[in-house]
Amino acid sequence: MRAFVIPAFVFLAAAAAAQDVPSFVNSELPVLVDIYKDIHSHPELSHFEARTSHLLADALREAGYTVTERVGKYPDGSQAYGVVGILKNGAGPTLMIRADMDALPIVEETGVPYASHVTMKDRAGQTVGVMHACGHDVHTTVLIGTARAMVAMKSQWHGTLMLVGQPSEETIDGAKAMLADHLYERFGRPDRIIGLHDTNGLAAGTVGIRSGPSATSSTSIDVVIHGIGGHGAYPQAGRDPVTLAALYITQIQTIVSREEDPQDPTVVTVGHIEGGTKRNIIPDEVKLELTTRSFTDESRDTVIRGLKQMAAGITASAGLPPEKAATVTVLEDESTPVLYNDPAQTEQIKATLVKTLGASNVIDLPRGMASEDVGVFALPKHEIPLTYFILGAMDPAKLAAAKAEGKELPGPHTSRFEPLPQPTLRTGVTAMTSVAMSLLQ
Ligand SMILES: [Zn+2]
Ligand SMILES: [Zn+2]
Repeated sequence: MRAFVIPAFVFLAAAAAAQDVPSFVNSELPVLVDIYKDIHSHPELSHFEARTSHLLADALREAGYTVTERVGKYPDGSQAYGVVGILKNGAGPTLMIRADMDALPIVEETGVPYASHVTMKDRAGQTVGVMHACGHDVHTTVLIGTARAMVAMKSQWHGTLMLVGQPSEETIDGAKAMLADHLYERFGRPDRIIGLHDTNGLAAGTVGIRSGPSATSSTSIDVVIHGIGGHGAYPQAGRDPVTLAALYITQIQTIVSREEDPQDPTVVTVGHIEGGTKRNIIPDEVKLELTTRSFTDESRDTVIRGLKQMAAGITASAGLPPEKAATVTVLEDESTPVLYNDPAQTEQIKATLVKTLGASNVIDLPRGMASEDVGVFALPKHEIPLTYFILGAMDPAKLAAAKAEGKELPGPHTSRFEPLPQPTLRTGVTAMTSVAMSLLQ
């Protein structure tokens, strides 16, 4: 009898192996790489993701999901390009998997054969080069791969899958727009949320993860420094807002160094400054666009208070009248909360990743100062457990060579950010599918 039992076991194991996640993903990889290159060479700016969202919707429909397009409403009433795909597979929890779809106004310089040559008009009507410089093409493709894999593995999990293609992550108003369009009322409130982001800091084949606060809140702030314009040759007749802005920009860096708790990291960056029309005219005002990053409400509030106090101080020191006071406006629509990885869920996910990819391919990450609006989906006070992990995307040999020289490979938001498609997608889909299956047992 024994002789029969053993071959039967081997046969069953072989049948099970044909259904395992890594071999399914391997068989899908050529198609996924083609999809990735197609999305990469057709990037679309935030608020304009018509083609990408349609491609995702078609792929989810083809895989067997019930799909709704144009989910999301912006504050101005316009409809967003959000996509929701639902797959019900018996009783069990609802798991939401989120991928963002938008690209950035950057002219691509990677030189890859599938590089973007796309230009389009941004919301201000300016024609700009467009590039998937944040790897959201990787995320969208991983979502498509995971969607297909979860259908193939249907006998090994139960519950409801809610796949979300999110628009406008780079302008951090896409997640809010989807919630404002009653995402959870229409499609059900998920019990858990997962997502991933690629990185230039890790090799393809690896992932990174962190429990608790993982990425900062981001707050967008506009400052207008008023003055009294006049002839550039007669500064005494006016009040020069350019020199006041220069003083202000330097002074506000002391908020971080002198007013914040050094144990609680904070960043204040002036990324855009605009004032004047000509070298010999003193303008009436200078506009500044700022971003600030914090891990706590206290440090965020300290920055905002400091910006207001210093703005008042600068205008007072110039002897300007009250109606010329500088204004500091917090843009809540362009702000996003801290990304908080639920500790219990993250521990479970990390164990799955270690089992799937091997312990040496799962890296403990430090917290980062970049922000993500995925945390908006978790609702205030992190009501829905969320875990967002990081996907290595770099050619391992190039990354090792750069590290040996003490350098970094070009990262997200640069014109030379270059994920290595095949191993990145393989690891992304394998990791995401394994994690999804472990949460839907
Ligand atoms: Zn980005
Ligand atoms: Zn991104």
